Amino acid sequence: MCISNRVADPRKTEAGGLAVALSGALQANGGMWFGWSGKILPEDGATPADTPVHQQQAGNVTLATLDLSRWDHDAYYLGYSNAVLWPVFHYRLDLADFDTGYIDGYRRVNQLFAAKLMPLLKEDDIVWVHDYHLIPLASELRALGCRNKIGFFLHIPLPPAQIFTAIPAHDWLAQALFAYDLVGFQSEADLEHFNRYVATEARAEDRDGDGRRWRAFGRTLRTAAFPIGIDVAEFDALTHAHDATEMYRRMREEYSRRQLLVGVDRLDYSKGLPQRLRAFRELLRRHPDNIRRATLIQIAAPSREDVDAYGDILRELESLAGSMNGDFGELDWIPVRYMHRTMARKRLPGLYRAARVALVTPLRDGMNLVAKEFVAAQDPEDPGVLVLSRFAGAMEQMREGAVLVNPYDSQATADAIQFALQLPLAERRRRHQTLMATIRRCDVHWWCQAFLDELASADAEQTGPDWLRL
Ligand code: ADP
Repeated sequence: MCISNRVADPRKTEAGGLAVALSGALQANGGMWFGWSGKILPEDGATPADTPVHQQQAGNVTLATLDLSRWDHDAYYLGYSNAVLWPVFHYRLDLADFDTGYIDGYRRVNQLFAAKLMPLLKEDDIVWVHDYHLIPLASELRALGCRNKIGFFLHIPLPPAQIFTAIPAHDWLAQALFAYDLVGFQSEADLEHFNRYVATEARAEDRDGDGRRWRAFGRTLRTAAFPIGIDVAEFDALTHAHDATEMYRRMREEYSRRQLLVGVDRLDYSKGLPQRLRAFRELLRRHPDNIRRATLIQIAAPSREDVDAYGDILRELESLAGSMNGDFGELDWIPVRYMHRTMARKRLPGLYRAARVALVTPLRDGMNLVAKEFVAAQDPEDPGVLVLSRFAGAMEQMREGAVLVNPYDSQATADAIQFALQLPLAERRRRHQTLMATIRRCDVHWWCQAFLDELASADAEQTGPDWLRL
């Protein structure tokens, strides 16, 4: 049983590696994927509590979805999830909106999820909850008497205790995590932050002295890092299919005399997009051999446009790209091609493969799958180079083969990009091989299995009192 804010239909081709992996795992034993339908109920109609869960069969997997009211959606999704937890977990206290009462909506929707889920649960079902929207779900399920094994995976970073404790309800969130049997993080750094927090703030007992089993609030919780990967086989097939090879051919033809750099992101302030453009501007200033030669294609997919901070970043990017093209552009050369759109997944590997360098320079990122997709799409005989932020979760696995940068330092980043552009073929191949070995070893199927194995072996005995509603 998987639970996440949104449910993806694994039969649709646009569904990415995560949907494929989760549905693969569910399919193995037959299972259910439960979440919000993406629909908002009309204001004058039934309440979400009175609306039945929609069930739909997708192969061996049952997709179970529920609708939300506008009020719930705005407070739970736009509000607490994306205007409080998302910024704080990405170290952006300055962007967090604490004083709005969003937390009531967050709690209400988690209670609704629990109430709707409970009757669907069988005694021996293993429950896997995903991401920051649903932190209190296990605690709500426990309050209804659920004794199943429940695991939680946080797809975004977990900040250090000094930042986490700024959330007014931080202790409530932390206690809610103890209703799970296993909590998984993307990186060792996130795990360390959590361990430090529970040891000092929650006074949890480190059962084995290795920071992997914690006792607090009458329960024992396992913690571990499981860096998420991509579906390498699926991505390889996409790379060699018609749409991507056609895209590759067109890009190579169009940019035959140029060095192509590429950035592909959701438009989000955590992705460091203005800093990336400024680093590219520094590249043109400090290394003028790139003038008329290097072109940066930046694709930024529209995202969460109803949240204020996203409008600000959109305007900043447009103005920066415009002024750079105005200052540096020539009749036959545009330095920055900035596009505010989602690119078809089938064509994406063609763009990656045509690029000499990828700029994956978030200010903070749980993992960053674009970094892994870029590497997987390369021609091993003539691979491009990954320029990667030291603040992406992917850094822990990719530090050997990538060129690491501090995205806040535009001059040093510019020099690192120049270094990446000039790497000789043998060195590019060596780096690519190193990265590919990790990406293959820790793919999305490995991630899924590693988490589920750990959850299956988590302590069956939970000696604490029955969980009271927090
Ligand atoms: P996040 O989960 O924060 O968006 P990730 O890098 O981990 O960041 O995952 C992003 C996923 O979305 C990747 O699979 C990537 O290919 C896809 N994606 C990101 N931006 C775009 C875009 N502009 N067009 C199409 N796909 C995109």
